[in-house]
Amino acid sequence: MLGLMQDWPLLCHKVIDYAATQFGQSEVVSRSVEGPIHRSTYAEVRERSLKVAQALERDGIGFGDRVGTLAWNTWRHLEAWYGIMGLGAIYHTVNPRLFPEQIVYIINHAEDRVMMTDLTFVPLLEKIQDQVPTIERFVVLTDADHMPETTLRNAVAYESWIGGMDGDFAWKSFDENTAAGMCYTSGTTGNPKGVVYSHRSNVLHAMAVSVPNVLGLSCADNVMPVVPLFHANSWSLAFSTPMAGAKLVLPGPRMDGAAIYELLDQERVTFTAAVPTVWLMLLQYLEETGRELPHLERVAIGGSACPRAMIEKFQNNYGVRVMHAWGMTEMSPIGSCCALKPAYAALDGDARLDIQEKQGFPPFTVEMKITDDAGRRLPWDGKTFGRLKVAGPAVARSYFKGEGGEILDSEGFFDTGDVATIDRLGYMQITDRAKDVIKSGGEWISSIDLENIAVGHPDVAEAAVIGVAHPKWDERPLLIVVVKPGRAPTKQAILDFMEGKIAKWWMPDDVVFVDEIPHTATGKIQKMALREQFRGYRLP
Ligand code: ADP
Repeated sequence: MLGLMQDWPLLCHKVIDYAATQFGQSEVVSRSVEGPIHRSTYAEVRERSLKVAQALERDGIGFGDRVGTLAWNTWRHLEAWYGIMGLGAIYHTVNPRLFPEQIVYIINHAEDRVMMTDLTFVPLLEKIQDQVPTIERFVVLTDADHMPETTLRNAVAYESWIGGMDGDFAWKSFDENTAAGMCYTSGTTGNPKGVVYSHRSNVLHAMAVSVPNVLGLSCADNVMPVVPLFHANSWSLAFSTPMAGAKLVLPGPRMDGAAIYELLDQERVTFTAAVPTVWLMLLQYLEETGRELPHLERVAIGGSACPRAMIEKFQNNYGVRVMHAWGMTEMSPIGSCCALKPAYAALDGDARLDIQEKQGFPPFTVEMKITDDAGRRLPWDGKTFGRLKVAGPAVARSYFKGEGGEILDSEGFFDTGDVATIDRLGYMQITDRAKDVIKSGGEWISSIDLENIAVGHPDVAEAAVIGVAHPKWDERPLLIVVVKPGRAPTKQAILDFMEGKIAKWWMPDDVVFVDEIPHTATGKIQKMALREQFRGYRLP
């Protein structure tokens, strides 16, 4: 017997309908690419996203077509997303920090028919437009006054383009499993692969992560996603924030410490989210200026491991609770978040930090397991580590056009490529990416653990650990350090600092000081480039 409840498909544009109906006057505040702060509301965003859908339809775009966006987090980008989805077309976020060849590759692979771009990226697109023939029109996210002279095909200023529409448009209705959006993985090995979100997966994921155990969003919050819309679906915030009716603050093109601080302060942001690199810049800015964070309550940190020292600083110096989160593009993206279960709630000091350093437990909708290389499940004892595999309604089952072939195991789990432990209470901790783990004498050393300890040294700005070939042990850890301005620690001082915090045989064999550590398009340490740079390095 079937249940007798209504068939109400989980469609993404219902989120903006809800926000406009219930929280129509809640603000959407953006730093514009042109410079000034722009103020809008959910009601206006909805109205204008209907015009986006109408303009796209007039241009011949329809169900299943891909529309690229190469843009910062602003109100126009948000309107573009909802307009595209409400037409049954598919937003495809392009990460501008990818190499131009990769950008060309993914636009062609996705067969984008329209590209909506910020002013920032017009010169880049002019250079590559001949290599991306599927794009019929470029919409520049600006108004007529700021529209540059450009050679881009059929270029039009966004405001003029939607300005000609009356907004008399009804969202299309279709099956909730219809594709809504696409995001390519950054492809550290091989070509980037396209992850295709559905309306249902985006809505379910946003609902699953909105609860108090995860992001805990409500209409009392002022939310600032610093994490870009082009980075792993902006960690759900383009959906979960309007769903909660919270005020939305979008940082546009500026992500330096001063710019982020200005919005946190002026817009009284209570919740924000980004990768650790962004928070390093903010904390440095706060230390230099002596400023504080009186409004900010919670910060979600993920994308790479959050160093213990960062959790301590936010919590002890600024009274901001850190929520360490883990996820990946293939998971929509949030896979876990570190809230404290009752058994851990009473912990304080170091014991509390020990837990907060973990990536936490999954929300409802995500199942996890760790396995050995043969696929056998490993125990949840907080010590045994294995390959982390996940399943759920917002986890990819295949890449676009079947790239990479079958990606699920016989139980339907996706291999994340991460190595992790899970403790008896279900808390997962990432040990490493499978390809970054250091194999010394048949045992594994976690590069993440060593990096997190090294950045706790007061003179260290950033640290990376890679495995370097060793005749006896196969690989040994090499610690690569960027020091803070004006500091000059010795190698020994750093190793002494690590002494006692790790097993003796985990101790790096050498320390090298560099001016800069290379980062990927999503702000992660580029281990591949470092391994290349230090190939053949002679350990003492
Ligand atoms: P990209 O590399 O393009 O940013 P993803 O965002 O999908 O792609 O990257 C996902 C990977 O990032 C995870 O598989 C994991 O290795 C790493 N990661 C994400 N969050 C964390 C975290 N909190 N701690 C450690 N690693 C993390």
